[in-house]
Amino acid sequence: MPDPELPFDPSLALIGGAWRPAEGGATLALLDPSQGTELARIARGGAPDIDAAVSAARAARAGDWGRMPAAERGRILTRIGALVRERLDWLAELEARDVGKPLTQARNDAVALARYCEFYGGAADKVHGQTIPYLEGYTVYTLREAHGVTGHIIPWNYPMQIIGRSIGAALAMGNACVLKPAEEACLTALAFAWLAEQAGLPQGALNVVPGLGAEAGAALAGHPGIQHVSFTGSVATGSAVQVAAGRNVVPVTLELGGKSPQLVFEDADLDAALPFLINAGTQNAGQTCSASSRILVHHSRHAELRECMAERYSALRVGPAMEDLDVGPMISARQQGIVAGFLEKAADLTIAAQAKVPEGPGHYAPPTLLDAVPPDHPLAQQEIFGPVQVIIPFGTEEEAVRIANGTDYGLVAGIWTRDGARQMRLARALHSGQVYINNYGAGGGVELPFGGIGKSGHGREKGFEALYGFSTLKTVAAFHG
Ligand code: NAD
Repeated sequence: MPDPELPFDPSLALIGGAWRPAEGGATLALLDPSQGTELARIARGGAPDIDAAVSAARAARAGDWGRMPAAERGRILTRIGALVRERLDWLAELEARDVGKPLTQARNDAVALARYCEFYGGAADKVHGQTIPYLEGYTVYTLREAHGVTGHIIPWNYPMQIIGRSIGAALAMGNACVLKPAEEACLTALAFAWLAEQAGLPQGALNVVPGLGAEAGAALAGHPGIQHVSFTGSVATGSAVQVAAGRNVVPVTLELGGKSPQLVFEDADLDAALPFLINAGTQNAGQTCSASSRILVHHSRHAELRECMAERYSALRVGPAMEDLDVGPMISARQQGIVAGFLEKAADLTIAAQAKVPEGPGHYAPPTLLDAVPPDHPLAQQEIFGPVQVIIPFGTEEEAVRIANGTDYGLVAGIWTRDGARQMRLARALHSGQVYINNYGAGGGVELPFGGIGKSGHGREKGFEALYGFSTLKTVAAFHG
């Protein structure tokens, strides 16, 4: 059992307001990535549990929750946000132990969760339809309506932030949600559901069924009783989720990661850029969908940038989450193995710097900065999902754009230049869901619409835009003569 004590039993699922074991009582071990030891047992939900959760969600839609005025939904979300704020340290500690992320980073995620609840709480009654000029004798207007039951399949890297952005927006629009957290990390999903209960969220409006992807996840993605799926995770799984939902002709939002570049031009303010360059690659040990894993630099600043980054890399402190250093462990031995496999493929590359890692227990990967990496090298093309960044020099703006756009992904990009015209040109030229100019927000910004193009996915979450994704539009045409 994690410390501090939990007010709920983590081996249970929450379905229709009842905390109950998965059918058959099956459980899974949840591991502490910093220690490699068992943290808790969680429910191993399967298709029958997902069935029950979808039924409970439908009942909530047909009952109090579905009839509740938007302003009241907003008040409940705001109350959840207030309860999250009262327990930031508790949530941060749960997330740190469960995900292995340093305590300060986990606390930032808890603050972001509170902000999502506040933002979507305030927005719930501000989504309006339109009146549309039409033929003589008609009044035409549009209604924004909830999809109904929404499925949410989330990964282990930022549980609190992803719950905030997807469950927050879905509840604001009046959907009833079924959440399948990742089997590697799900304590804060359960804690959030418990807080939502305390805040007065009606039974069945949020159901949480932990379990394996191939069991609970697949059952949710393909369930005929849901009307929308929000998925964050790998390309392969996202594509399978889209196929499963497609059989029921259900819309899907996919957020699948990337190989996000930051472009450093000859006139860049390197002192300002450095913390962003490093943080965007090492935050959460690089296990961030919007991690900036490619640093493109103009030849004239290449040597200077390499030296400054290398100095900071060598000083990175890596260790257990609760020691609150710069970088924690990988989520699992599997993820550690994936990073090690990529580093083996880097044998032909120049290591500019590598931080030291503690000997076990815990699954650590050494933060590694690779220099002068050819743009078509696998380490410059594939998502590593570990603390590895590559430096790629370029000569001209056109070449920089070509390299930046030269992967299958398009999630986030950063531009470092003082030249205003170049900023505007590149903001348009870069294939990316978000572009940051003289800053870089790895996933940051509750208010900012977020999502990708290409293999980074489709659909937008976060900001006001998400409210449109979590609702559908009905056109009403009335003839009155
Ligand atoms: P994954 O995509 O397999 O898992 C994400 C979620 O999907 C989890 O809740 C999982 O249980 C569920 N899932 C798995 N198989 C499913 C299926 N068939 N149907 C429905 N749901 C299913 O990711 P992973 O295995 O945890 O990590 C593998 C790779 O994915 C990582 O190395 C990384 O590159 C990438 N990843 C990306 C993100 C991101 O934020 N974009 C997050 C986590 C992992």
